[in-house]
Amino acid sequence: MSLLGAPALHSPCDDVTDFGPSLARLVEDMFATMYAANGVGLAANQIGVPLRVFVYDCPDDDEVRHLGHLVNPVLVEADGDTVRGPEGCLSLPGIEAGTPRFDRAVVEGRTVAGEPVRITGTGWFARCLQHECDHLDGRVYTDRLTGLRRTRALRAARRAPWARTAAEG
Ligand SMILES: [Zn+2]
Repeated sequence: MSLLGAPALHSPCDDVTDFGPSLARLVEDMFATMYAANGVGLAANQIGVPLRVFVYDCPDDDEVRHLGHLVNPVLVEADGDTVRGPEGCLSLPGIEAGTPRFDRAVVEGRTVAGEPVRITGTGWFARCLQHECDHLDGRVYTDRLTGLRRTRALRAARRAPWARTAAEG
């Protein structure tokens, strides 16, 4: 898992151009990694692959399960109320901070087979979609924080047991 500070996490990912078997394998690896870490979403650059791919298995606020993957996703709509809710990330283990997100998000992209898909999310799932799109643009959720919340989260990250490993790559 790439941790906060790893270069792959902080640069924009490239579009996928090859929809071959290696892409399907990448998505499988990402699901395995996400489940092993008990996550609800994972972006490819979190496992060091700088491509625009993410996977998710995430409930919304009505406990409806959303399971899937997106290749070359684009956040085409983000609207509704801005909700500040607790957000964490597998790349900053053990840290959580109230992060503002839109209550509704629409993402368009492709499947591993290259078929176009359009995903609409609300509540917690909308938060997940925005979080994963941010990853592919080279942003982590602490980049969305300001003021004391940001200071506290970054301080916790610096003091975390994994911080040393992250700094080394
Ligand atoms: Zn994350």
